[in-house]
Amino acid sequence: MVCMSTSPRSQAVKRDWGHDETGCTVLHIDMDAFYASCEIARHPELKGKPVIIGTGNRAVVSAASYEARAYGINSAMPVASARRKCPQGIYLPVDMAYYRSISRHIFDLIATVTDQIEQVSVDEAYVDVSAALLRWHRPTAIAAWIRQHVSETFNVTCSVGIAANKLIAKLASTNAKPDGMLLVPLARHAEFIRMLPLRSIPGVGPASAERFRRWGVETVAQLATLSENEITQITGSKVHAHGLWLAAQGKDDRRVTPHTPEKSIGNERTFMTDTTDLQEVSNLLRRSSEDVAATLRARGLLARTITTKLRYEDLSYGTKALTLSAPVDSAASIFPTARKLLFALLHMEKTDTELPRPVRLAGVSASGLSPAQSTALQPALDLGFDVETAEDGPDLGVEPQKLRTAEKTLDSIRTRYGKGSVHLGVG
Ligand SMILES: [Mg+2]
Repeated sequence: MVCMSTSPRSQAVKRDWGHDETGCTVLHIDMDAFYASCEIARHPELKGKPVIIGTGNRAVVSAASYEARAYGINSAMPVASARRKCPQGIYLPVDMAYYRSISRHIFDLIATVTDQIEQVSVDEAYVDVSAALLRWHRPTAIAAWIRQHVSETFNVTCSVGIAANKLIAKLASTNAKPDGMLLVPLARHAEFIRMLPLRSIPGVGPASAERFRRWGVETVAQLATLSENEITQITGSKVHAHGLWLAAQGKDDRRVTPHTPEKSIGNERTFMTDTTDLQEVSNLLRRSSEDVAATLRARGLLARTITTKLRYEDLSYGTKALTLSAPVDSAASIFPTARKLLFALLHMEKTDTELPRPVRLAGVSASGLSPAQSTALQPALDLGFDVETAEDGPDLGVEPQKLRTAEKTLDSIRTRYGKGSVHLGVG
């Protein structure tokens, strides 16, 4: 897989196009030299050096740091040619599992802004921010937040294009690279794309570029002088021609189609033997809640919905979820909710000490995730129950906000001494 863009760029379009963000609800986010950046993130001593991902004489280059690109190294170039151009380069093998895990974490972070994410590859996605604008107000504010947090958290930079459609957003991010952001206001879409070579339009490969060249068409500006019929004659495809004719006007009617790998954080465990012991099941839910809460805090997230899951001895399972009145990230809030959901799931009375049927596995998950930095916490409601059910919550005897602080302290102890080292006496 090749993750380095080879599409032509034009210095001329990398400029200030104005600040009217109206209608610019599509972000194209693209990690810069992703595989190479991931390697540099775990080997900081490689920073500033020409790093090339791809080894072996028959292999091709999968990614190259910008320092390596200065030597004329491109993706899909045979590694042997790259070695001739840059013998002093650092050549590393592809570690897809590692890049995928970084990618997953990056997209988890982006998903805290909105779930309207269409991930197109391990390092690239379109994001429709229309709904997120209710809270964020400006697309550029979202892009800036994502760029800053991806860079700070993962030591990987990304470039973001902001426009009214996928085509212009993608071309904007390409031309913002590396480590840049480019807004193209709606009114300037046509002007922007007409400054680019024809080859920069996704879908115009060497073969169609050659057909257009024979007609004297090498730029989008020249394409824009042709009718849809003329373009059909050149390409031989009505569908392709329609897309190109739209592109020459800076238009693109493809929608952002969300595809999000993970929208929740969960933890579940299997019992040594199937059990009906409420105390045992409670203890497990408490530990799962602590794990989920620690993960939320580690990722800087708050969750609005808590789900309890049970798997029974016949391997069938049941879940029950509750959406809280305020988002949470502490076991002090998650565990009582999870326990309450356990009772609801099995139609148990408060006084019961046995489950009506044996369970094999129990777990807790948190969803409705949002970034802690941009979500207002409501200390008075931090326990998070809906008002009418709040009285069923256990009396913790401590203010939830204090427990939340206590748990944050425990995070650092667990980090130093291991997960099992300390537990809060919640519940
Ligand atoms: Mg990329």
